[in-house]
Amino acid sequence: MLDKIVIANRGEIALRILRACREVGIKTVAAYSTADRSQKHVLLADETVCIGPPKSADSYLNMPAIISAAEVTDAVAIHPGYGFLTENADFAERVENSGFIFIGPRPETIRLMGDKVSAIAAMREAGVPTVPGSDGALGDVSDDLLRMARQIGYPVIIKAAGGGGGRGMRVVNSEASLLNAITVTRSEALAAFGNEAVYMEKYLERPRHIEVQVLADGQGRAVHLGERDCSMQRRHQKVIEEAPAPGLTGEQRTAIGRRCVDACLEIGYRGAGTFEFLYQDGEFYFIEMNTRIQVEHPVTEMITGIDIVRAQLEIAAGRPLPFRQEDIQFRGHAMECRINAEDPKTFMPCPGPIGQWHAPGGPGIRVDSHVYSGYEVPPYYDSMIGKIIAHGSNRDAALARMRTALAETVIEGIKTNIPLHLEICSHAAFRNGGTDIHYLEKRLGL
Ligand code: ADP
Repeated sequence: MLDKIVIANRGEIALRILRACREVGIKTVAAYSTADRSQKHVLLADETVCIGPPKSADSYLNMPAIISAAEVTDAVAIHPGYGFLTENADFAERVENSGFIFIGPRPETIRLMGDKVSAIAAMREAGVPTVPGSDGALGDVSDDLLRMARQIGYPVIIKAAGGGGGRGMRVVNSEASLLNAITVTRSEALAAFGNEAVYMEKYLERPRHIEVQVLADGQGRAVHLGERDCSMQRRHQKVIEEAPAPGLTGEQRTAIGRRCVDACLEIGYRGAGTFEFLYQDGEFYFIEMNTRIQVEHPVTEMITGIDIVRAQLEIAAGRPLPFRQEDIQFRGHAMECRINAEDPKTFMPCPGPIGQWHAPGGPGIRVDSHVYSGYEVPPYYDSMIGKIIAHGSNRDAALARMRTALAETVIEGIKTNIPLHLEICSHAAFRNGGTDIHYLEKRLGL
């Protein structure tokens, strides 16, 4: 196994990684910013290295500081967590060139998937279903563009090849606005992502977001761990996730899962990854691949019993995947509510000191959080302070446990979105399952 690794992240995921390391006997180095001295994982790590001031650009995005943390502590690998430098191919390359293991896919894979045009081309090549749209980046000939959109059928969506986080996209409802929309999206893409390539897709009007979790060892073995439904979103941010996706049949799961596994083998994928799809009228349409561990991974862990972070560590150590597809069984249903330090009505972040903190418990409840009584939520980072995960023998059972858990959680001193979660959990449409990605915003009147 790996001897010692640097955890180059913060918050609940840093603690999650630390726990996995402890279980398998890997020593840990917490690389932290000055705002995060009292983070739980920093207090628990075997060693700590301060990598800079609070601003992410100076600490969690500071490549030389993170690599030096590995050098000075004699660590062998770096786990990037999610967010920050996770999907930065240059970082992965610098880590490897400095003689360390990057806990994630090869830099070439991150680069391939980071450009949506090349990612979609690779997926089409591998037989993964994609959204009907342009074959690659759009050219400049107006007649060709108009013809293409007519063939795809309005509405269409113009998307930046280098886009991310729900930015760099524009929906076009009719021919009159097509060419202007392409020009504007191009210049925005150049300014925001330094890459003016844009492409065109059919705009799906009421899709669900369903994603497939994969694990591959980069040595010819890959499995899928089923899907998650993450349709409950606000401004493209996931709010509640669940597994399995309501209403999906075993045949559908096996079929889409196999495509993803084949694609992993085709591109020589290594590590944990997620294929994100829009799902509408029984069809899957690939939109992008996330080459990292995701916030919502626990719902998959709860229904499969597989520790995905531990698998990442084992794969990084060069071990072959210890299970085959037929070993993976799905049991019951799991849901995750992301708990944010924010106003439940205005969604304004609400950092500050926490007074009392009482986490929920009981059968089927898991809480992944770095927060404790007296902890102060810093204003510099994402407002997520933890996740409550509920597992039950079926969806109704998981939902009942989730409501009980949310209701018994006490977080004093700051506002959180728990009231919003409780409200969503009581909506008839959510209780029935299978709402589309616009449901929450419509319901909130946005
Ligand atoms: P990002 O990397 O910015 O998250 P994605 O390609 O994953 O970009 O798209 C983000 C979101 O935009 C999707 O979850 C969906 O809500 C919307 N979207 C993207 N493509 C389409 C499409 N073809 N039709 C409808 N909605 C889309």
